[in-house]
Amino acid sequence: MEKIVSLCKRRGFVYPSSEIYGGIGGFWDFGPLGVLMKNNIKQLWWKTMVEEKENIFGLDSTVIHHPKVWEASGHLASFTDPLRECKSCHKRFRADKLTSEKCPECGGELTEVKQFNLMFETYVGPAKETANKAYLRPETCQGIFINFANVVDCMRPKLPFGIAQIGKGFRNEITTGDFIFRDREFEMMELEFFVRPGEDEKWHDYWIKERLKWHQEMGIKKDNLRLFEHPKESLAHYSKRTVDIEYKFPFGWAELEGIANRTDFDLKNHSKFSGKDLSFQDENGEKFYPFVIEPSIGVERIMLALLLDAYREEKNNKVTRVILSLNPKVSPIKVAVFPLLANKPDLIKLARRIYEDLRKDFMVAWDDRGNIGKRYFSQDEIGTPWCVTVDFQSLEDKTVTVRDRETTKQERMGIDKLKEFFENKLK
Ligand code: ATP
Repeated sequence: MEKIVSLCKRRGFVYPSSEIYGGIGGFWDFGPLGVLMKNNIKQLWWKTMVEEKENIFGLDSTVIHHPKVWEASGHLASFTDPLRECKSCHKRFRADKLTSEKCPECGGELTEVKQFNLMFETYVGPAKETANKAYLRPETCQGIFINFANVVDCMRPKLPFGIAQIGKGFRNEITTGDFIFRDREFEMMELEFFVRPGEDEKWHDYWIKERLKWHQEMGIKKDNLRLFEHPKESLAHYSKRTVDIEYKFPFGWAELEGIANRTDFDLKNHSKFSGKDLSFQDENGEKFYPFVIEPSIGVERIMLALLLDAYREEKNNKVTRVILSLNPKVSPIKVAVFPLLANKPDLIKLARRIYEDLRKDFMVAWDDRGNIGKRYFSQDEIGTPWCVTVDFQSLEDKTVTVRDRETTKQERMGIDKLKEFFENKLK
C-alpha cells in the first residue's frame, strides 16, 4: 500500500486534499493522471450499465435534496455508525471496529456506544435555521427514487428496467484511512434496477454475476475477488439480502461493491412521505410497487483495487522496474511517443507529427527526456500500454517501433497503421 500511495503522489494520480494546510482527513484530490483514470473507470461502468443495455436509463440528480427525502429513506434515523470516544484523548472510534475495551491510541477509558449519523449537514438559503437544514447525499440512489415517476412518464419502460447514476456522495465517516478506500467525499456509481415483486431474487442473482464479470473484465485477478453474504442481523434497514463483492486489499478482504435487494422500501416510503403515488402500472393495468436491485460501487475504491492489482516489480541486474499492468482501457495514457534522440530536429519533427495526429483519437504522452530505456520505465510505472519510438529508419521508410508494456517486445510498423493498431487493441 505504501508503494501505491507514494507512486500516486509522485506521478500525479492522487494528492492529499488541502495538503499545504496540513491536509484534511478523508478528502483526496485527483491529479492529471488520476482524473484520466477515474474518467476511464466511470466511462467503462456507464458503457456496460447504460449504453449496452436497452432498458437502463441515465440520470444526474442534485447532491442536495429536500430534507424530507432523508426522513422517508430512513437515513435521518438510521444512517449511523456506532461511536465510542476516549475520555482522556477524546479521539473517536467506530465501536464495531474496536478490538479492545481501551482506547487504541492512549489506553484511556472509552465512553458507552452512541449512534453517530454520518450525513453532512448544511443550510440552504441565508438563514441558518433548523427549517433550512439540509444534507449532502450519502448515496446517489435517492435522487433516482424521487425521479422515478418522471423517468417512467418520459420513457414508458416495461419491467424490468433500470435507472443509473454516477455522482458525488458524502459520508462523515468516523474513521478514515487505508488511503482512498474510505473517504468522506467520494464518487458513487449506482444502478437501481426495478423488477416485478417475486422476480427480485432471480434478478439479484443475475446482477451479482454480471458485476463479478465486470470486475474481471476490468482486469482484476479472479483470486482477489470473492462474494460475501451479509448475515441477516447486519443488513441495512432497507435490505432483504445484500451480497458484497470483496477484494483482497493489503489490509484484508473488504467490500468493493455492494449488491442489495432494497425491496419496495424506498418507493413505498417516498409515496407515503410525499403523498405522490410512486407505484407502477404494468401493461395489464396492474398497479404495484416494483422491487429494486441495487449494485453500488465507489469510483475511488475500485480505482484503489485496480492500482493494487496491477502493481508489480521486476528485478533485473539490481534494477527494479515498476509496472502497472492495467487493462489498457483503464490506463490514463494509452500511447507515449518518443523521438530516439532529443537533439535531432528531423526526428523531433516527425515524432511531433505522429504525436499530434494520435492525440485526436487517444490520450497520448510526449517524452524526449533522458534515454529511451528510462522513458520506457517511466511509462511502465503509470501503466501506459504502448510506446512509439521514431528513429533514423523512420525518416527513410515511414515506419516506427511500437513497444508493448507487458512483453517489452518491439514491433516495427508503418506510421499509417498506428491508429488502426491501437483502435483494435482497445476494442
Ligand atoms: P461500510 O460498512 O464499509 O461503511 P457500507 O456498507 O456503508 O460500507 P455501501 O453503503 O454499501 O457501503 O456503499 C456502496 C459502495 O460505495 C461501497 O461498496 C464502496 O465501494 C463505496 N463506498 C461507501 N462508502 C465509501 C467511502 N466512505 N469511501 C469510498 N467509497 C465508499
